[in-house]
Amino acid sequence: MISKIKVLRELLDNKKVSILELTQEYIEKAKATQKKTNAFTYIAEHEALEAAASADTQEASSPLHGLPYSLKDIISTKGIPTTASSKMLEGYVPTFDATVAERLKASGAILIGKNNCDEFAMGGSNENSAYGVVKNPHNTSKVPGGSSGGSAAAVADGASVFSIGTDTGGSIRQPAAFCGVVGTKVTYGLVPRHGVMAMASSFDTVGPITSSVYDSAVVLDHIAGQSSHDMTSIKGPLGSYVDAIGKSVDGMTIGVPKEYLELLDESMKTTIMSSLDLLKAKGATIKVVSLPQTKHALSTYYILVPAEASSNMSRYDGLRYGPTVTEPKNLEELYLANRTNGLGDEVKRRILLGSFVLSHGYYDAYYLQAQKVRTLIIQDFANAFKDVDVIAGPVTPSVAFDIGGKKDPMDLYKEDVFTIPASCAGIPGMSIPVSSKGGLPIGLQLLAPQQGEGRLFTVASMLEELIGFSL
Ligand code: GLN
Repeated sequence: MISKIKVLRELLDNKKVSILELTQEYIEKAKATQKKTNAFTYIAEHEALEAAASADTQEASSPLHGLPYSLKDIISTKGIPTTASSKMLEGYVPTFDATVAERLKASGAILIGKNNCDEFAMGGSNENSAYGVVKNPHNTSKVPGGSSGGSAAAVADGASVFSIGTDTGGSIRQPAAFCGVVGTKVTYGLVPRHGVMAMASSFDTVGPITSSVYDSAVVLDHIAGQSSHDMTSIKGPLGSYVDAIGKSVDGMTIGVPKEYLELLDESMKTTIMSSLDLLKAKGATIKVVSLPQTKHALSTYYILVPAEASSNMSRYDGLRYGPTVTEPKNLEELYLANRTNGLGDEVKRRILLGSFVLSHGYYDAYYLQAQKVRTLIIQDFANAFKDVDVIAGPVTPSVAFDIGGKKDPMDLYKEDVFTIPASCAGIPGMSIPVSSKGGLPIGLQLLAPQQGEGRLFTVASMLEELIGFSL
């Protein structure tokens, strides 16, 4: 796909358009997208126009200077409402910027709004938002995926040059696949989580959703790297991810997990394999690998993530954030009233699940066991990466499904079967659009060892060029 950053950079640098004009145009697009898809929880019109006017008076010091972007609404923004798409945080205006927001502000990019998502990032369809369902811009009767569904919908609909999402178990890759855009889930720790509302702290990652692979690399260059505010953050690369783009794949070995293929229907399998054939023609070797723990990854994730989430959610007691709904007789009544009123069904379900697996008598049987299986999943990938440089496979079992089509939470959890293993292992992954079915995009997933983002950019940019995807 064409790089929006390159195109707009040229227009701005050649003074064909001012940052203020560009921002005005994007605000109008965001309003139109909002009517169609409900991708925003807040359009920061006033704030963006002010920032744009000021950016017009400054020298462009970065490729992102003056480019309109948005943030998933679980990323804290100073002076701009941040709701996590929850009633619990209605009216909450952070007093500080998340590290990612701070870094993007420093790059001169213009924040035009906050993107709708599943409440506290718990979900995979964007149906769990207190601010309404987000619709897929390619077909508004379909989900955009989730939890970063608003981010993917906004980028796919051209309302945002890029958006920053979070991926705990697939929440960047899956909506990117459903909306036909590029989603990069980074190595755990590569992008600081400071100021990003925690879902499951040992899984959460922050990363870009863009309309091209090049744009993803540029944005990642600006947000990656250690911060003293996040003790789990890592140094990141010395160079630029952009340098990995356009390199040859000749001599690379690409693994395809046999367990993933076994779970796919014929048409999805054909789509994935024919995309990889294109890389073969460029000198890559395709090799079937095995990730034997794939069958245990879902249950492992859905024990560990609710366990961590139940602990993280305990801070939302109605005292520190959000509206207090009652004149309570005692503390217990206050918690009960506020949490009953403030949190949606899926969040409550995960708090219950998490509290259960951590409780006395069940801890050893569920939580501890799942931690051990997580180690086996990590070993699965370590073994596979002894033989291959990159692993390729599907992002989702099918294209975007109908809004309201999956009523049973288990059916939604099962959708995450291909994204969750990498999340358990903390490795990077990327979703790029390679084909479509019935007007809906299909994504291909690439995985690399920890800090192997460069390899993802190399392979993804080659595929992007060879396929020339458009809808
Ligand atoms: N769909 C997954 C879940 O519901 C992923 C969520 C995420 O990555 N934030 O847990």
